[in-house]
Amino acid sequence: MSHLDPDRLSLIALGEPATDEERAHLDTCDECALELAELEYTVIVGRSTVGVGDLEAPPERVWAGIAEELGLGAADRMSTAGGIPAADERERAATADEPERASAAASVSDDEESPGAPAPARRKRRTRIVFALAASIALIVAAVGTWTLVRETQPVEIAVATLDAFPAHPDASGTAVIVEKPDGARQVQVDLEAAEPSDGFREVWLITEDASALVSLGTLEGSTGVFPVPDDIDLREYVLVDVSQEPADGDPTHSGDSIVRGELGFA
Ligand SMILES: [Zn+2]
Repeated sequence: MSHLDPDRLSLIALGEPATDEERAHLDTCDECALELAELEYTVIVGRSTVGVGDLEAPPERVWAGIAEELGLGAADRMSTAGGIPAADERERAATADEPERASAAASVSDDEESPGAPAPARRKRRTRIVFALAASIALIVAAVGTWTLVRETQPVEIAVATLDAFPAHPDASGTAVIVEKPDGARQVQVDLEAAEPSDGFREVWLITEDASALVSLGTLEGSTGVFPVPDDIDLREYVLVDVSQEPADGDPTHSGDSIVRGELGFA
């Protein structure tokens, strides 16, 4: 029987089940078993290094393995610690195998490998496959890493409020959205639709449900603003978001002239 197709070996290394025939061959053919072990090793190294930290420090053993396959130098001798024999050992094994391989190849008429040039062609092809495999694993690592980064830096929406108009501002409306960043910091984004005030300014507040306490978050310029929520504010207590019309009188307290107000609903 001819050796297993390198493409099949790659797929098996990636987890596709081997057929009975392929398994039988792998049980008896050291060369194919060795190639499979090497491919599986590459896959394991790739999978075990999936993580953001490894994006900055590429999996050295993978590249060392590629360098070894490409015959780029002896710098990779240490890379064989994982139980994979060094290239020259494999070469010796292949050479010792040669007469048997040649006769086996000759006896199979449709063998795609020519008996005259078996090992180098096969080896080159395997090199390409290992390289492609490593490259695709690197892509997966990069993709997973990027996804992890995006997920970890994406603020999470934790509460929203619909802001309803007060009688003195009948056409006003608005929304407030609280997001929490990965570091625990919270922000409220306020969107207000209301006629522009002729004087004074608008101020955003968090107020407790019974209006016994309130905290100013800042001045709303225009119709949209993002304000940090102080760390010591419990949003389960300060559940009301309020936007007030404030006169420019230097008084930091709430004017009592609310434009809109709404209660936070938590996700
Ligand atoms: Zn074989």
